[in-house]
Amino acid sequence: MAQRVLITGGAGFIGSHVADLFLREGWEVEIVDNLVTGKKRNVPAKARFHELDIGSADAGRLAGEGRFDVLVHLAAQMDVRKSVADPVFDAKTNILGTLNLLEGIRAGGTKTRVVFSSTGGAIYGDFVTPPNEETFAKDPESPYAIAKYSVELYLAYYARVHGLDAVSLRYGNVYGPRQDPHGEAGVVAIFSGRILDEQPLTVFGDGEQTRDYVFVGDVARATWLAATAKLPRQEKLDSRAFNVGTGAATSVLALADTLKRVAGSDVPVQHAPKRPGEQQTSFLSIEKIRGALGWEPQVTLDQGLAQTFEWFAAQRTPAAGAKR
Ligand code: NAD
Repeated sequence: MAQRVLITGGAGFIGSHVADLFLREGWEVEIVDNLVTGKKRNVPAKARFHELDIGSADAGRLAGEGRFDVLVHLAAQMDVRKSVADPVFDAKTNILGTLNLLEGIRAGGTKTRVVFSSTGGAIYGDFVTPPNEETFAKDPESPYAIAKYSVELYLAYYARVHGLDAVSLRYGNVYGPRQDPHGEAGVVAIFSGRILDEQPLTVFGDGEQTRDYVFVGDVARATWLAATAKLPRQEKLDSRAFNVGTGAATSVLALADTLKRVAGSDVPVQHAPKRPGEQQTSFLSIEKIRGALGWEPQVTLDQGLAQTFEWFAAQRTPAAGAKR
């Protein structure tokens, strides 16, 4: 019998790539998404779609009673600035919505592995020297990052007390086709749109702030491996946490230059005042996931940006709108 996965947020950017990969691997895929930012057209035709909020009783029941081998939990309020403006809404979705699913699984009594999408970009804060390792001190600086960290704490608790099989993936700044220009790594989507409009690229501050940009196809593969591999025992909080990045720091200026080069564009870069609270340096150590899951990124920044730009460009053609 085929293995079964429930993907929350499967109509979104990362979730739709994860769904595609599980289908290619022969799994039965069901998706829960309330379409708040996700798009119905991102849902693969072979996946069964449930338009539900993760906080609803129906979603909790489905997670517990759907005989799923794996829950990949990606649905989230994922806009950091929105979390600052409305921390209550953020916590309702990102903490209480997640607890609703975990309680559903507990009530269902199934042995479902939970793969959670945490953040490597925001959880470590500014007081550590990158590359950030999983065991480094956590200093979440936004309600969004606090919620991700809280869910990791809950998962460790459920593992200890209820025997839950859970793993947290701390993604870097994910980019690629189908990305919405909002959220943590929207910069690639935003810059692509500006280049297509032949408008200047706006860089905040001096542009020397660095991030770890990882291609969505590589992230989907890491997620699939985490769902299927033998994992270390849950002992300390970080035992079942893995960074998913490239191990390389890229400045916003370097990103803009590379994107302009692969797009064949010469739009200017303009500077705007530094945004308060923005992290200066952030990139991830990926030694742990390399050792434990044999994962490493396969797509270079040049290749990934070229594929992403091509996708955004194709959306502007008259036949755009169809899923690619
Ligand atoms: P996305 O916005 O494209 O996907 C999130 C999906 O969740 C959307 O389809 C949205 O409609 C759905 N959703 C939101 N609230 C919901 C709710 N209450 N009930 C049901 N569905 C709901 O974002 P993404 O970039 O694909 O992010 C996926 C996950 O990965 C998120 O948890 C995000 O925090 C995490 N993450 C993303 C990045 C990144 O760089 N994109 C980095 C670190 C972590």
